[in-house]
Amino acid sequence: ITKDTQGTNSQKKYVSPCSFTNALEAARKEVYSNPSSNERKGITFIGKDAQHTNLEGYLKNIDPKMIEVIESEIMDTGITTNWDDIAGLNFVKSAIQEAVIWPMLRPDIFTGLRRPPKGILLFGPPGTGKTLLGKCVATNSKSTFFSISAASLTSKWIGDGEKMVRALFAVARCHQPAVIFIDEIDSLLSQRSDTEHESSRRLKTEFFIQIDGASTAQEERLLLIAATNRPQELDEAARRRFVKRLYIPLPEFEARLELLKKLTAGEKHSLTEENYERIANLSQGYSGADIRSLCSEASMGPVRSIQIHSIEDINSTDVRPLMLEDFEKAFLRVKSSVSSEELNQYVIWNEKFGFGC
Ligand code: ADP
Repeated sequence: ITKDTQGTNSQKKYVSPCSFTNALEAARKEVYSNPSSNERKGITFIGKDAQHTNLEGYLKNIDPKMIEVIESEIMDTGITTNWDDIAGLNFVKSAIQEAVIWPMLRPDIFTGLRRPPKGILLFGPPGTGKTLLGKCVATNSKSTFFSISAASLTSKWIGDGEKMVRALFAVARCHQPAVIFIDEIDSLLSQRSDTEHESSRRLKTEFFIQIDGASTAQEERLLLIAATNRPQELDEAARRRFVKRLYIPLPEFEARLELLKKLTAGEKHSLTEENYERIANLSQGYSGADIRSLCSEASMGPVRSIQIHSIEDINSTDVRPLMLEDFEKAFLRVKSSVSSEELNQYVIWNEKFGFGC
């Protein structure tokens, strides 16, 4: 194992004889338990046994530059999102817990018929907590989180998207257990058309190869979570790969209430239970992200009420508390971002292809 700290100081430790998983686990402990982990550059297997480890195999023919980009920009080992951070969505939380978290923690129990899906799809309006759920899965399954937007594979990695997909799965395999979160999956897997560009066809094929590979290699602890706001654009081949398709709807009254309280918890406010209920009622049709914007806008109310000439000298403790009126004004500016026609489409798709909510 080489612990490479900015290329100047490296430690070597011989870990043998042991399986790849044990060696990787030992290497991870060695590298990640280091408090100055900002300095870590990666784990490299050296020595003659290393040539035979899966790790070597995983990264064979992978562009080192891509590995570096993935490890620095896409991989996140320090995710700490918990179930309590996500308001509402109780059905989804328990479905995810049962379908993917327990199996990742206890792969020995979840075999045969209980074998977990390797890919799940979260669909629904934007800003409803799909990314938060992905992070939460990674935290709770003690996994490394890889997050990428599929749109960036087609825009940022033009022509190289296919190689990037291969590199992403390869690096994730080296950091098992791992959760790969792919946002806007529709832009990658939209229905094939005659006009489909050759490069996007190749990208899609590579993606299917990788998912299918993950599904057949049972010992791998790799989970793919895809998210989309446009599920109707996924074709049959894409749907088949995501056995569990979970609808992430707009928050209900209780969830909106919970979210409002969470978001204002750290603020000085004079909101009563009745006020909260009124805001929760008025925000029907708002997504979690809309509610967040609403709270930000409302929180500007107390600041705006300060006389312009005193803004520089006023003591922060003298800024008045946030009030119901601030929210009433904020409602005039921040509107719901999802239309009822759009919502209807999700409901229809959920009835056809969703995992029973
Ligand atoms: P999506 O991936 O569905 O587009 P995100 O998970 O990125 O949405 O959510 C965007 C932001 O909206 C989050 O960072 C969070 O502040 C807020 N949010 C959305 N839904 C929820 C929720 N159910 N609970 C708590 N916060 C939420």
